[in-house]
Amino acid sequence: SISENRSFANDKSPLQIFVKAKKRINDIYDEINEYVIETFHFVNDLPHDIDIVDKAEKELFESYIFKVSAIREVLHRDHMKVAFFGRTSNGKSSVINAMLKDKILPSGIGHTTNCFCQVEGVDGEDAYLVKEGSDEKLNVVNIKQLANALCQEKLSESSLVRIFWPRERCHLLRDDVVFVDSPGVDVSANLDDWIDNHCLDADVFVLVLNAESTMTLAEKSFFHTVSKKLSKPNVFVLNNRWDAAADEMEFQDSVRTQHLERCLDFLSKELKVCSEKEAAERVFFVSAKETLNARIFESKGQPPHLGAITDGFQTRYFEFLDFERKFEECISKSAVKTKFEQHSSRGRNIGNDMHLMLENIYDRSNVMKKEKGGVKKKLTDRIQSTESNLMQITREMKQKIHNMVEEVEKKVSTALNEEI
Ligand code: GDP
Repeated sequence: SISENRSFANDKSPLQIFVKAKKRINDIYDEINEYVIETFHFVNDLPHDIDIVDKAEKELFESYIFKVSAIREVLHRDHMKVAFFGRTSNGKSSVINAMLKDKILPSGIGHTTNCFCQVEGVDGEDAYLVKEGSDEKLNVVNIKQLANALCQEKLSESSLVRIFWPRERCHLLRDDVVFVDSPGVDVSANLDDWIDNHCLDADVFVLVLNAESTMTLAEKSFFHTVSKKLSKPNVFVLNNRWDAAADEMEFQDSVRTQHLERCLDFLSKELKVCSEKEAAERVFFVSAKETLNARIFESKGQPPHLGAITDGFQTRYFEFLDFERKFEECISKSAVKTKFEQHSSRGRNIGNDMHLMLENIYDRSNVMKKEKGGVKKKLTDRIQSTESNLMQITREMKQKIHNMVEEVEKKVSTALNEEI
């Protein structure tokens, strides 16, 4: 059945690297959270009449509860983000729709949006959109209405419209990929603002070119700016509208070679974001319109080739699939690295800090036991029991933090080396 096919495809998706790592690190932070709370209560409940711990220290322990809960909140919201750029009408919206297997973003003449559109998954069955600066959920009944809503509004060019789409309708949304469509790089003067507002946290950039023409200065300069702000951004290049090349069979190969060389040079020599070998895995010749057509037929249980625009459909369709696979692998690994490495090092710092504090308290109780030893049997007993508790808790803390850091580091390095 279709749904079986879908879940089969999902289990093999490289996006699972991110999904699993996220689940794992969330579970670990649940444990850390319990542990931090437990430690705080233990320290907070230490008797006042024996000066083992003071008020400032108790407050510091409490502050770790807030820190950990802030990290957990960020973790729950962590996602993978891909941003699409290129001139208007090159097919950015069509590529996104093809990947989402549905006509979600309006495309075509007269539907040029001059704002950013973000598509993200949401629980439940209803799609809606939210404009920047508003909390109102505007119902999206169909694509036409969405298109009108986007066109009629006088939206400023760097504002963001968020489209919430039921995550169960597409595995990319279900697995926490967020899509950002941009106004054309040819119609905007504020590229710097754009990048600052919408791109600095993107894990992958996709440059959508029109295979019928050559890369323009506007398209190039945008990525020059991006690569100045981000060290080695992940850039994919799609030569879209490749179906048009099929009409001129005799030139197809030479056109492809020429485009390919230019794209490879651009990525490896001009932007220097990757080696030439890596760049070869980043450049594709596709037809977004055709792929979307094919997928709409597929979703109705019909064969994809019914969506063919012209000869050579199979090759273009497979190349789109190849792009998606490499894209999923890249975004998943990149997001694991940038997001979770940070969380694990923060977790390690919190663990080390708390560990150090507990050791200080432990040392103090040791000194105190010696000083007060023999003075009052009762007090000594209490210090002794506090001390053994502390010893145990310090030991546990050390072990847990150690396990956590190991676990996360292992996860990150596996994710980065995993071959799917
Ligand atoms: P955007 O402005 O970059 O978002 O471009 P759109 O996705 O809106 O596409 C502009 C027009 O080009 C639409 O009419 C699309 O149907 C058409 N288009 C997009 N991709 C392809 C393609 O691969 N082949 C062909 N023949 N037309 C395409």
